[in-house]
Amino acid sequence: MTRRVSIFGATGSIGQNTIDLIARNPDAYDVVALTGASNIDLLARDAIRLGADVAVTADETQLDALREALRGSGVEAAAGQSAMTEAGCRPADWVMSAIVGAAGLAPSICALQQGATLALANKESLVCAGALILETAKAHDARLLPVDSEHSAVFQALVGEDMSAVERIIITASGGAFRDWPIEKLASATIAEASAHPNWDMGQRITIDSASMFNKALEIIETHEYFGVAPDQIEVLVHPESLIHAMVGFRDGALMAHVGPPDMRHAIGYALHWPTRQSLPVARLDLAEIGALTFRAPDEDRWPALRLAREVMERGGLSGAVFNAAKETALDGFIGGALSFPAMAEVVEIVLNETDPGHIDAPMTLDNVMVVDHISRQAARKAIEQRAG
Ligand code: NDP
Ligand code: MG
Repeated sequence: MTRRVSIFGATGSIGQNTIDLIARNPDAYDVVALTGASNIDLLARDAIRLGADVAVTADETQLDALREALRGSGVEAAAGQSAMTEAGCRPADWVMSAIVGAAGLAPSICALQQGATLALANKESLVCAGALILETAKAHDARLLPVDSEHSAVFQALVGEDMSAVERIIITASGGAFRDWPIEKLASATIAEASAHPNWDMGQRITIDSASMFNKALEIIETHEYFGVAPDQIEVLVHPESLIHAMVGFRDGALMAHVGPPDMRHAIGYALHWPTRQSLPVARLDLAEIGALTFRAPDEDRWPALRLAREVMERGGLSGAVFNAAKETALDGFIGGALSFPAMAEVVEIVLNETDPGHIDAPMTLDNVMVVDHISRQAARKAIEQRAG
């Protein structure tokens, strides 16, 4: 039986890895919707090659270009925010949520409302609106599967276990590009330097977020939301080799570690084939050759994002949406040359401290999350301008 699949963020790093797996077994899948933003040629090429029903770009100005690229193929072209959401509403059995940033939230909610199994790479959805995502999945009997490598690892270590026996969850971090830099040198870090990840090949934004540990900060909150564990049960461990992705510690003292190569096709494939395991085209580790794995505690002076994540969990409400929006805007500031690397965390902290508590304590609806997202981006832009002025 073929499965109907959609891929949101099909032109990105996770999207392309998902397509790699699906294209190896095309008869098993009916592709419903592929979405992208700026990369029209790639979107059209994959939509034609996979025989998708519709290809959607988030960028309305690209509709003509997309139509042109799809001409004669029978694949429908669509563009803009409402088309993205409409793509999320098309019935599918399995949906990959791999748009980068808060833009991934609304299509993910729609897919859950259709009862689809949602493979969630877009961690920002859980950070901004964890309770809303989980409630929507529950209300529509939709399954939510983690794709972030750490969360997939935890999910796998928990198979057959009772959550009440879990003492702690340890997520590992490579430490990113600046793990071994002197802290004083971070102020002069360039975009090119921050975009070079030692182990993983990922999109540029998450790669820079790995260097600042904003990625790990989002993942701490993602762990808290997805697995329902208390903040003090979540630990971060720097593990430069990136081979152990996470560990679950149980009350009898056992630690179950998930070990595998740094290749996202493992976590994507696990979510694609869950609850079974199928053969996947990832490297098999030769641990004798690897010889040693190393670990160290994270330094919160180097990575203030980790402290901020804990403050967000303590504050609760919509503070995750504030944090994520401020982080995305600060990252834009760094990429655009308006902020130094360490100043990103300073801007995020200012926005977190200055947000009106009335916004943070508003009920968690999609509209309220989008409002908080909007005002937090404005506040972050203002903080960036004030620094420049
Ligand atoms: P990429 O930057 O490589 O890809 C992002 C995708 O989102 C592209 O398809 C892009 O389109 C699309 N996109 C960008 N902006 C918008 C927008 N405003 N509206 C709709 N679509 C948009 O990111 P990654 O694949 O690296 O990451 C995707 C998600 O997965 C992120 O949430 C990330 O945190 C998470 N993740 C990624 C991992 C990885 O290994 N890469 C690991 C774990 C989690 P286009 O390229 O056409 O402009
Ligand atoms: Mg991760």
